[in-house]
Amino acid sequence: MRTCGTTSVSAPGSDVLVIGGGVIGLVTAWRAAQRGMDVTVADPDPGGGAAGVAAGMLAAVTELHYGEETLLGLNLASAHRYPAFVAELEEASGRDTGFRACGTLAVALDSDDRAHLRELHALQGRSGLESAWLSGRECRRLEPMLAPGVRGGLRVDGDHQVDPRRLAAALLTACERAGVTLLRTEARRLSVDGGRAAGALLGDGTEFAADRVVLAAGSLSGRLAGLPPEAVPPVRPVKGQVLRLTVPPARAPFLSRTVRAVVRGGHVYLVPRENGELVVGATSEELGWDTTVTAGGVYELLRDAHELVPGITELPLTETRAGLRPASPDNAPLLGPTALPGLLLATGHHRNGVLLTPVTGDAMAQVLATGELPEVARPFTPDRFAPASAAPVPQEQPV
Ligand SMILES: Cc1cc2nc3c(=O)[nH]c(=O)nc-3n(C[C@H](O)[C@H](O)[C@H](O)COP(=O)(O)OP(=O)(O)OC[C@H]3O[C@@H](n4cnc5c(N)ncnc54)[C@H](O)[C@@H]3O)c2cc1C
Repeated sequence: MRTCGTTSVSAPGSDVLVIGGGVIGLVTAWRAAQRGMDVTVADPDPGGGAAGVAAGMLAAVTELHYGEETLLGLNLASAHRYPAFVAELEEASGRDTGFRACGTLAVALDSDDRAHLRELHALQGRSGLESAWLSGRECRRLEPMLAPGVRGGLRVDGDHQVDPRRLAAALLTACERAGVTLLRTEARRLSVDGGRAAGALLGDGTEFAADRVVLAAGSLSGRLAGLPPEAVPPVRPVKGQVLRLTVPPARAPFLSRTVRAVVRGGHVYLVPRENGELVVGATSEELGWDTTVTAGGVYELLRDAHELVPGITELPLTETRAGLRPASPDNAPLLGPTALPGLLLATGHHRNGVLLTPVTGDAMAQVLATGELPEVARPFTPDRFAPASAAPVPQEQPV
């Protein structure tokens, strides 16, 4: 509890209120608490969100897309932080994150796929990234379960994986141990007082006061009531369906690294965990907040994964789920201050939110502590989407 403003009424509050306890909200809270801030997270289901569905590929190199070279810098900065980040988080939480430095193999099934992969290889080379071109035979030597028809592939030794569910659970424990207050309730409305964010009205009817509010509500970030129009983040949900299969001990190791391909224009990947789980994903669908698992989605994933690795049809299918990626117009996150003083964003991480967890935590803690984002995060401020009319008006020059 703290005393708010000049009134003598004691209201619940803290330095920082984080709305949303997915991996992005939790890492922000943990890092801010480590810097001595008094932090509260509001979320009806902290540690859930998209990380409950995500595959956990840390794919800075294999996810490189034309036009996303700026995002590449942030992705690489986060990928490089991962080993030290998980070591610190595991120490702080006493929990395993399932981080696995296993690398990735991106393969081609026909000549069109091979041409596409060759282009990706050239782009990676121009961007100074390490990847090695392999023949189909070399791919199968690395991964004997691959289909005989695989025509070639790219070996990317630096694209690893983490288990997003364990990562979220570890962040939750680390937050608790660092003194973060977890309120298992939603933020219903942002409170604005004197032209600045001042906290939020919570689901239980409490007015919670805070000096700064970080909006990290994933795909729901733009739906929070009370946001002034100029501070509404342009974030939308992109649905992804994912399957989980189990590799029985007698069939292990089924795959030793992440295997991925573009089949009929759609991306399919298989991510093998050390505990025998094999994640097969993912669809990409613009269907609003729908999270139905459909027969068509499951069929397409199994069909495409089967073309890559025929043996998967013998494995038990243990789970089917759909989740929502928080996507922004340029596929990059929105980090830092908004047009509303006191309100910051940490959202829009789209298909790379697990990868971007370490760098986001560092960037958000720094901007909360000093008012300045680190260099690597500066291209991702929310004002890049501000309408021209909202841009600062240039000073009149004397004629
Ligand atoms: C199918 C799929 C596969 C993916 N694969 C990968 C991958 O391989 N690698 C990778 O890096 N990323 C992957 N991602 C992306 C990654 O999962 C997301 O970018 C990341 O989890 C987003 O985290 P977040 O905390 O921003 O949002 P979320 O995980 O959506 O969390 C938002 C939280 O906010 C809470 N919330 C919402 N509204 C409110 C409110 N009003 N008040 C309080 N709380 C609220 C929700 O309960 C939720 O817990 C994948 C995503 C999907 C769906």
